[in-house]
Amino acid sequence: MRHGNLFVISGPSGAGKGTLVARLLDAVDDAWVSVSVTTRSPRPGEIDGIHYFFASDEEFDRLVAEDGLLEWANVHGCRYGTPRKTVEEHIANGEQVILEIDVQGAFQVRESMPDARLIFIEPPSLEVLEARLRGRGTETEDVIEKRMKTALLELSRKMEYDIRLVNDDLDVATSELIAYIDEQAESN
Ligand code: 5GP
Repeated sequence: MRHGNLFVISGPSGAGKGTLVARLLDAVDDAWVSVSVTTRSPRPGEIDGIHYFFASDEEFDRLVAEDGLLEWANVHGCRYGTPRKTVEEHIANGEQVILEIDVQGAFQVRESMPDARLIFIEPPSLEVLEARLRGRGTETEDVIEKRMKTALLELSRKMEYDIRLVNDDLDVATSELIAYIDEQAESN
């Protein structure tokens, strides 16, 4: 059995983090992904406790006051946070714990858990990112503009991450991500 580790995965919306994490979970037996708490409303098909724990503002306030969150941040007008207790339990249990969170949250985690490894997923270019956001066909022009602005802010901090993976070819990016996690987990 390997030691437990904490991996933080960030990158702009449209970089393909979700797909990469899903593939990682399929391939790495001891990987576990944390489910975040959010004040945003569920999208069609999203299930409470699977995609997110959907919480009211009051419930989120209570979690913050109880120090129940490892980190939290405001993203696009809603609050998102990582439940502290389950993350600690899974690390203690020897698992490779994955957080898929924004850049603000990533640096909060680094402050409180300096051993965490920070992974940045990059789109091949801004043009590709915009095309991917438009390709979803679900977002309005306003939302696309907002996401592109956030993407630029996030990309400006990529050099502070421990590793950057460009998600151009999904198979290549998946292999690189798995190789990094295995290498870190073996060397610990
Ligand atoms: P979405 O609403 O599209 O599911 O997520 C929006 C953004 O919130 C994404 O960039 C995602 O990585 C980020 N996010 C999701 N959960 C958390 C969390 O627990 N903490 C932080 N800081 N960001 C999160």
